[in-house]
Amino acid sequence: MTENTPNIYLDNNATTQVAPEVIEAMMPCLQRFWGNPSSMHTFGGKVKKCIDHAREQVAALIHAHPEEIIFTSCGSESNNMALRGVVDACGGRTHIVTSNVEHPAIRSLCHYLKKLGCGLTELAVDNEGLLAPEQVAEALTKETGIVSLMWANNETGVLFPIEEIAPLVKSSGKLLHTDAVQAAGKIPIDVREVPVDMLSISGHKLHAPKGIGVLYLRKGVKINPFIIGGHQELGRRAGTENVPYIMGLGRACELALEHMNEERTRVAALRDQLEQGILASCADTFVNGNREKRLPNTTNIAFKYIEGESILLRLDQYGIAASSGSACTSGSPEPSHVMQALHVDAMALHGGIRFSLSRYNTQEEMDETLKHLPGIVDELRKLSPFTARIQCC
Ligand code: PLP
Repeated sequence: MTENTPNIYLDNNATTQVAPEVIEAMMPCLQRFWGNPSSMHTFGGKVKKCIDHAREQVAALIHAHPEEIIFTSCGSESNNMALRGVVDACGGRTHIVTSNVEHPAIRSLCHYLKKLGCGLTELAVDNEGLLAPEQVAEALTKETGIVSLMWANNETGVLFPIEEIAPLVKSSGKLLHTDAVQAAGKIPIDVREVPVDMLSISGHKLHAPKGIGVLYLRKGVKINPFIIGGHQELGRRAGTENVPYIMGLGRACELALEHMNEERTRVAALRDQLEQGILASCADTFVNGNREKRLPNTTNIAFKYIEGESILLRLDQYGIAASSGSACTSGSPEPSHVMQALHVDAMALHGGIRFSLSRYNTQEEMDETLKHLPGIVDELRKLSPFTARIQCC
């Protein structure tokens, strides 16, 4: 890399740049409003008002009531709070329905809860990563305490039909949690229309800092607290609040809502340009997952006969950052559980690259990426043991 190497960040499903407006919103809480929001005095009262304001901003993003918003430390905590809160309220055991493509923050948790005695059904997606609402209906049993399904997949961007699944689960009297960590801020979410009981959000996926998350808990839904202690968050999550980050998340949600319509279309057009450009210029490539029902910012492209990680390293030399699999599983030699669930062709199982965009990406960045990628792919294919084997057969 040289001084002139560009910095092209196409890994926004791993984490996002903190928006300058978000940093600005956080500063007063670091410099002036540093009181404890639980204190009776004016120092505390001012800080409590900051939190109340942020709670309203977050609630507005998903059309919730502010008191239904519980601040947590991250998406993983929100997921743990939802599932463990229900399991605990059910006396330590219940039946959980989930899918086989969840993020480790649900998948590993469910496997752990299974070891503790919970029943577990992991619904299989089809080879485009889609799930049918009927599969959920069929999986519900008398013992089911909670259904937990992601809204958008972090690796492929494929969306589950939560709008159809939620009324179905509600009418069966069961609870529905959705891991909306990748969906929140990228697509419209309205909990007045979609009757989910719980929904997880993570700040760092929508231009707020790492270390702040939210669990939306519908009014009237009772779960046991996961972190027990003081009376913060109406007794639902103990611990003195992370006020600057809460302020940042509030502003990030406000910005996401403000930019959503315009940026959804612009970002999807950039993503499509990149995707079509790759498919046209690199042989033996295809898109992993359904191309219609997915987030506007994500494409996951399979490059047959090469290792995704080799492509990533070469892209990195040109200042281009993308990802293979989820940031939480990359580095593992095993193909991702999502690609396995999609039954991706064995010759492409290790060659998936996720490009995930944000509102900060530009047309020039797509052009620059398309300038380098075909050459990288050609070069790696020449070195690939897979291609050598095919040529000699
Ligand atoms: N759920 C999904 C779908 C994710 O993509 C992630 C992070 O990548 C998480 C949960 C975990 O969120 P956090 O990093 O805030 O713990």
